[in-house]
Amino acid sequence: MSVDAHKETLGFQTEVRQLLKLMIHSLYSNKEIFLRELISNASDACDKLRFEALTDEALMEDDAELKIQVEFDKDAKTVTVRDNGIGMDREEVMENVGTIAKSGTKQFFESLTGDQAKDAQLIGQFGVGFYSAFIVADKVSLTTRRAGMGAEHGVRWESDGEGEYTLETVERPMRGTEVTLHLREGEEEFAEAYRLRHIINKYSDHINLPIEMKSEEEGKQDEYEVVNSASALWARPKTEIKDEEYNEFYKHIAHDFEEPLAHIHTKVEGNQSYATLFYVPQRAPFDLWDRDKRHGVKLYVRRVFIMDDAEQLMPTYLRFIRGVVDSDDLPLNVSREILQRNKQIDTIRAASVKKVLGLLEGMANNEAEKYQGFWDEFGSVIKEGPAEDHANKARIAKLLRFASTKGDADKQTVSLDEYLSRMKEGQDKIYYITADSYAAANNSPHLEVFRKKEVEVLLMGDRVDEWMMSFLDEFEGRQFQSIAKGELDLGELEDEQEKEEAKKSQQEHKDLLERMQKALGDKVKEVRVSHRLTRSPSCLVVEEHDMNLSMQKILKQAGHDVPTMKPILEINSEHPLVRQFEHEQDEERFSDWAHVLLDQAMLSEGGQLEDPASFVSRLNELMLDLSGK
Ligand code: ADP
Ligand code: MG
Repeated sequence: MSVDAHKETLGFQTEVRQLLKLMIHSLYSNKEIFLRELISNASDACDKLRFEALTDEALMEDDAELKIQVEFDKDAKTVTVRDNGIGMDREEVMENVGTIAKSGTKQFFESLTGDQAKDAQLIGQFGVGFYSAFIVADKVSLTTRRAGMGAEHGVRWESDGEGEYTLETVERPMRGTEVTLHLREGEEEFAEAYRLRHIINKYSDHINLPIEMKSEEEGKQDEYEVVNSASALWARPKTEIKDEEYNEFYKHIAHDFEEPLAHIHTKVEGNQSYATLFYVPQRAPFDLWDRDKRHGVKLYVRRVFIMDDAEQLMPTYLRFIRGVVDSDDLPLNVSREILQRNKQIDTIRAASVKKVLGLLEGMANNEAEKYQGFWDEFGSVIKEGPAEDHANKARIAKLLRFASTKGDADKQTVSLDEYLSRMKEGQDKIYYITADSYAAANNSPHLEVFRKKEVEVLLMGDRVDEWMMSFLDEFEGRQFQSIAKGELDLGELEDEQEKEEAKKSQQEHKDLLERMQKALGDKVKEVRVSHRLTRSPSCLVVEEHDMNLSMQKILKQAGHDVPTMKPILEINSEHPLVRQFEHEQDEERFSDWAHVLLDQAMLSEGGQLEDPASFVSRLNELMLDLSGK
């Protein structure tokens, strides 16, 4: 059989070059992790083969015992990691070890500062994978053949990690991938049995496949022996598993470099038997916002890997959870379609969600600081929960954290329980305000009366907040009330006298209100006297069930057809400006005043004016007027 070698030299994608450079500097103190990464890839490759072979037995060829081998050559100063997994064809090699296919790569590299110390920290978050081989090697050779293809379809990839790599076709009878590292000067310690075994033990013991090395026993040096425990971590009893083992397993399945924040491991036996092991990462991945991407839970059936990213196993608002579900009852040939309408999966999912919520609750109650770290990373995703998961709404609500007029104005730290515990006497509602940003929320004129009465208001400035609040109507029997919507009803927070005065004031200023309404025409639904304001002359309000103005804006920007909902203009009848123009005889001047008050109210909400030029010219006119021209 002749093989057309078809050798070519190709350049790495720019990002790969950057990654290689950075990595060699930043991971130098932790260089042994290259072995973990290579073994992790070998294990993934075996999992993929096992899964594909479920529908195409021929892929196993006559070598169905999947395993990983680690070898070294002291004289040649090489370390080799070999697997008989799925392998790669030429295209796949180019795509997988010449580029970085991860979503978010580009943004990641844009976020690098150029300051090596800072970037070194970031690189860990990104996950380094295969390229970590170059930390200890100045030349890496990868030879592979895809399962099911003839021996003449072998491919060899070689690179010194400087910017280019070569690809050639080679004869390769053995299926799978073999990676050989030519160690850099000074890294010879890795070509030693003791060192390699120690690293495997430390990082890869949990790998669910035998990892073999040559025996060191006299006379048996050509035989392989298994050096890891080769049992599925999640199938072992909890009490026997050390935290380090849990952490290493996390790094393997999550392709993460950092330790997880927390984990929860459960085994269920009985009617249905299954095990679950879930992790909360420390940091949000770069593609967190891509709702269609990467649900991080892997499905196994009786210890056999079935699929990655099984989106049926976790709701979207928990898409950052990483882990494993292993069912004893599902058929091995289960497909994504079957998963979609499977009773067992529904049960496992419901129980899994409860477990994860329980884990988060425990953290919130007992490790507040850790939970705050979690919230800062993943809070905005959890906020999708009330809309998506009706059954667990009350539990999710307890996990929420908010900025607040009595907590931090720009950091979400206040829980609803905390809010309830500080409610004022006579207060029966949970007050909140949503705006374009936390600053806009905190500066909103609507807060004035609440500040005066020292009533706490939750401040919301995230895009999802208004949407989330449309799914939350109460917490522990207390209604949520937007302070920018509807008639302000402070209930018992207002005494009889105040209520009386408010009514009177509306009557007293009847003429003013009518004149303003006439001047503003159909720009507003109504003009009324406000009792929300103490310092500002005016503010805008929408009807109880209307969308707030910033939500209307977001939807319009996104190209939605939003019916124009006219706002209600409320004025502060005590304000000196209002008192002054109430007596304005000149109708044109009066109309200018009315418009300026309306536009001001819009601006202080963080809104945009339809006609800013007119606002400015009116304001200038009025200023000249006041200064006596
Ligand atoms: P990750 O494992 O996070 O995807 P890596 O850099 O470790 O990133 O690997 C990149 C890709 O190269 C893998 O996703 C896989 O497709 C391919 N790959 C690496 N090693 C092997 C291997 N031993 N067998 C088959 N494919 C491999
Ligand atoms: Mg990898």
